[in-house]
Amino acid sequence: MENKIKIADLEFNLLIDAEHIKNRVEAIAESLNTEFAGKNPLFVGVLNGCFMFMADLVRNITTPCEISFTKVASYHGGLQTTWQLRNDLGLAVDIEGRDVILLEDISDTGNTLKFLIDDLKQRNPASLTVCALLLKPAAQQYHIPEVKYVGFEIEDKFVVGYGLDYKELGRNLNGIYQLVL
Ligand code: 5GP
Ligand code: MG
Ligand code: MG
Repeated sequence: MENKIKIADLEFNLLIDAEHIKNRVEAIAESLNTEFAGKNPLFVGVLNGCFMFMADLVRNITTPCEISFTKVASYHGGLQTTWQLRNDLGLAVDIEGRDVILLEDISDTGNTLKFLIDDLKQRNPASLTVCALLLKPAAQQYHIPEVKYVGFEIEDKFVVGYGLDYKELGRNLNGIYQLVL
């Protein structure tokens, strides 16, 4: 695996290789298999970034489960400095009474997760558990108790790969790469 890569105009260094990701994802699946044994959880992935995490995680889930997706886009509204979120693809399934496991690629400020959790909770799931592959503790603006599983805590630096993009590029990389500043 390359240690240094260039994507568009920026350089990135390898931060987490494919082997480490695989081991961590399998460990999370193992915990979920124990926690949700005998239940039929519904996995909800946040597109686009979660697609690889979802694919690798659910391959290791042994309890019968359903898989669905939602999509949110964050954008700066006008001259405001706060993030606004737009739901681009509403969740098409009824989650009332379901054990919902929300999968997110990365939690940075926590704004996206907070928005999604508030929305999902209004639909009365039996339970709501969040798994974030990556989390930047230094950037978190909220305490989100629903976040029970985190793959890796990382520095507050921009990363790409394993689903995450820079200018829509790099999602296909099988490792996670950190921006060289
Ligand atoms: P939030 O600040 O709401 O927690 O994160 C918003 C979204 O920004 C994340 O879901 C993710 O799509 C994107 N994001 C946050 N940090 C990074 C990063 O380091 N790299 C990439 N590619 N996307 C990020
Ligand atoms: Mg995301
Ligand atoms: Mg992005």
